[in-house]
Amino acid sequence: SYRKGGYHAVRIGDPFAGGRYIAQRKLGWGQFSTVWLAYDTQSSKYVALKIQKSAQQFAQAALHEIEVLSSIADGDPSNSKCIVRLIDHFKHTGPNGQHLCMVLEFLGDSLLRLIRFNRYKGIELNKVREICKCILMGLDYLHRELGIIHTDLKPENILLFSTIDPTKDPIRSGLTPTLERPEGGTLNGGSTMNIIEKKLKRRARRAVANISVRRASMGGGGEAPESARCLDGIDVRCKVVDFGNACWADKPFAEEIQTRQYRAPEVILRSGYSCSVDMWSFACTAFELATGDMMFAPKSGQGFSDDEDHLALVMELLGKMPRKIAIGGARSKDYFDRHGDLKRIRRLKFWPLDRLLVEKYEFSESDAREFAEFLCPLLDFSPEKRPTAQQCLQHPWLNLRSSGQNEMQGRSNVDVGMRNLQI
Ligand code: ADP
Ligand code: MG
Repeated sequence: SYRKGGYHAVRIGDPFAGGRYIAQRKLGWGQFSTVWLAYDTQSSKYVALKIQKSAQQFAQAALHEIEVLSSIADGDPSNSKCIVRLIDHFKHTGPNGQHLCMVLEFLGDSLLRLIRFNRYKGIELNKVREICKCILMGLDYLHRELGIIHTDLKPENILLFSTIDPTKDPIRSGLTPTLERPEGGTLNGGSTMNIIEKKLKRRARRAVANISVRRASMGGGGEAPESARCLDGIDVRCKVVDFGNACWADKPFAEEIQTRQYRAPEVILRSGYSCSVDMWSFACTAFELATGDMMFAPKSGQGFSDDEDHLALVMELLGKMPRKIAIGGARSKDYFDRHGDLKRIRRLKFWPLDRLLVEKYEFSESDAREFAEFLCPLLDFSPEKRPTAQQCLQHPWLNLRSSGQNEMQGRSNVDVGMRNLQI
């Protein structure tokens, strides 16, 4: 990827935009870009510098992202709508070509890292409520005021506000190689990409084992009670990032949107989509925060594709899809017969959300019922029946307070899940 058209290799101390920004350390990367912590010598603040790959298609995507982020910033002068702020943008020429660069406000770790820090045990419900409020405020602003669909909402693309004052501690924990490559070696010789891929695979296995009730039954197993501590005493706030795939609701351009596990059924069926696809992904994200597991982790199997598995998992959790909706998409015939039954997965084992939360995740009856009442309408098979972000912000669940006594108690998702897989 570090060739012509690809990533720009950065060394610590490299100047950008005529010396205004100085690279400090790598924060992350995506398919299209690497993101660096940089010092803005003009404002004396730390910023995130997103450096796009240079090939034409990546440059075009970056221009689109800049356009979207600019409208977001224009409509929110006080920067209070829970969406990342674009500060500046410019072009940078390097050995691999010309790279579009975005200067963004510097944020903290992603919710995915938060879930990992909590060892996939889920985050305390009261914190989940605070995080959900932020995401919903961001979505309400995008959907209602701007008519923008994010199309790739997921824990990775929601970042916490850095709770560490970056001016005091800009280089936080961790290794800072002088030249870090996304797919290459690090100082300690390990391959970053391999480690991440392994982690992702492990995570996907867990989630599959968990929700895939068609193949799984309940198991026992105990692990010492442990609660999420890393957010103790912190006012939790976050912002939505990564507008590389965002689109205007009145001109959707891609047919296949969203990351697989967060993809709404109307996208799989090609029935057309709108802002409500983000509400589906939001519900999947909230579930993952609260349980540590992906809500749906589809996998192809003998005689069925991952799309079919996905539809089956969704129905096992939410009930049968109404026939009209099932057969209403351009792709419906690939999956459903004319009665609205899946062609290749005939036996579904239903496990409703509130029961799953109690039986699998050991939620108290009341926590489970309340959380399921919050999530289920967002997972309506009819996209137009899903509550909007604005309506969702009014939901009583967001202002409930759990004692914390009954949640997060000694669940053993991994053990139970893996055992079920072997049965
Ligand atoms: P891509 O479009 O290539 O997926 P993203 O915008 O998702 O790029 O950024 C890639 C990663 O960089 C994120 O997952 C996150 O870890 C990090 N990152 C992005 N924006 C910021 C920011 N404003 N502050 C801190 N880290 C960021
Ligand atoms: Mg991303």
